[in-house]
Amino acid sequence: MYDSAPADDILRASGIDPNSLREIMPRVDPAQVKVRVAGPWFRRFWAKGIAAIALPNGVFVQPAVMERFRVGAEPERSGRLIVHELMHIEQWRRLGPIRHISQYLGDYLRNRFQGFGHWESYRAIRLEEEARDAAAAVEIGLIR
Ligand SMILES: [Zn+2]
Repeated sequence: MYDSAPADDILRASGIDPNSLREIMPRVDPAQVKVRVAGPWFRRFWAKGIAAIALPNGVFVQPAVMERFRVGAEPERSGRLIVHELMHIEQWRRLGPIRHISQYLGDYLRNRFQGFGHWESYRAIRLEEEARDAAAAVEIGLIR
């Protein structure tokens, strides 16, 4: 079992050309982004149902997700997840950490304040919408 892999390897194994992402995420080189298993100390803070988290220094995933990458199970799902997380790294770099966190949390709290539940508020975060759109572009074949 390995506990880290470069994002471009996972993309290729999922049938996605890493270079095809350059247009939508010009600040990210997938070969330079490490995908790692998140340690138990870190995962303790994750909300239930979270598969992966992107930080400025890389993508952290649940052990079961890394196992999926390793055995090559559900390659399309893996590809979508990696594209989604790489878009978050693009956002970290585009906005810088302070604006990234304040926009992310600001959206979430505003949604909660307007009466939406946790998952609805999370899904309506604009930075999450952008990451989902990137993953959807892969899914419908705009990116290959
Ligand atoms: Zn996300």
